[in-house]
Amino acid sequence: MIFGLTLKKLVLQHQFIKYMSKKRILITGGAGFLGSHLCDRFIQEGMEVICMDNLLTGSLQNIEHLMPLKEFEFHFNDVSQFAHVSGPLDYILHFASPASPIEYLKMPIETLKVGSLGTLNLLGLAKSKNARILVASTSEIYGDPLEHPQNEDYWGNVNPVGPRGVYDEAKRFMEAMTMAYHTFHQVDTRIVRIFNTYGPRMRLHDGRALPAFIGQALRGEDLTVFGDGTQTRSFCYVEDQVEGIFRLLMSDYHLPVNIGNPEEITITEFAEEIINLTGSGSKIIYQPLPIDDPMQRRPDISKAKELLEWEPRYNRAQGLKPTLEYFKQVISN
Ligand code: UDP
Repeated sequence: MIFGLTLKKLVLQHQFIKYMSKKRILITGGAGFLGSHLCDRFIQEGMEVICMDNLLTGSLQNIEHLMPLKEFEFHFNDVSQFAHVSGPLDYILHFASPASPIEYLKMPIETLKVGSLGTLNLLGLAKSKNARILVASTSEIYGDPLEHPQNEDYWGNVNPVGPRGVYDEAKRFMEAMTMAYHTFHQVDTRIVRIFNTYGPRMRLHDGRALPAFIGQALRGEDLTVFGDGTQTRSFCYVEDQVEGIFRLLMSDYHLPVNIGNPEEITITEFAEEIINLTGSGSKIIYQPLPIDDPMQRRPDISKAKELLEWEPRYNRAQGLKPTLEYFKQVISN
């Protein structure tokens, strides 16, 4: 009996220690495209994940498979208003924001608020919990870049009063505020500059080139290329992006790091690639280029290679396959 009690006590103690040693991470925008893949990854890493989202552009469908897990919690909350969680926190990832050009054009004030006030609230939370915080910045901080490829020392070419300014300037403010908390309050911070990323759980109608082209090709409609289609982008598969972000979070480097795939392609070539991939009979039609649409974009990833020993593993053919499967399912439902 005494032996039985001692054993039970030991088991409980072990469970308690295990519970206490489990790392706890808050992911804002966790129901979004990238955020939900990050939730998956940190669950796989054995952490307790708190996913916070106001579902403005995120969707519960992206995280429904995680809902039954006891290591996973969903908090419906707008971080631009306030950000709080009870109990200890080891890490914070701030990924909440409308993130495609048509979304931030539709929601300019929300976009500005989540990048500025939201970031401020989360930096405050990180300070109070003594947590490490990684903020999601973007290649958009380089604007329509005059240097090519873009490395982290380039300061960018952004029009603050143009339609994209609401996103670009919010993210530039995010970086400045994060650095201020790092130097003034000694908060443990990380800044990732995310370049165009794609994969399953992107929204079909978010207006980005990839979902637009795949949707159009699968429906047999013409693919709408904006401008003359000579502008370039470099597309990174979501699994590579998540790996880069994970490594940056675990590193001890606080200055911005580009994460993206340096394989560059013109938008016309990309549209042709999607037509071939889907086997569609669609044609390309050309429409006016949106204002301030960057003409070229390719990350210089030397820093990530050196500091994080990271580089993309998926080329477009490998990444587009599961992405196409995902969109086929979405469209057939
Ligand atoms: N684009 C296009 N047709 C579309 C959607 C986008 O030609 O239906 C172009 C867009 O003008 C830009 C490029 O594709 O030059 C990438 O656009 P996306 O919105 O995917 O990302 P971002 O401009 O933020 O890199």
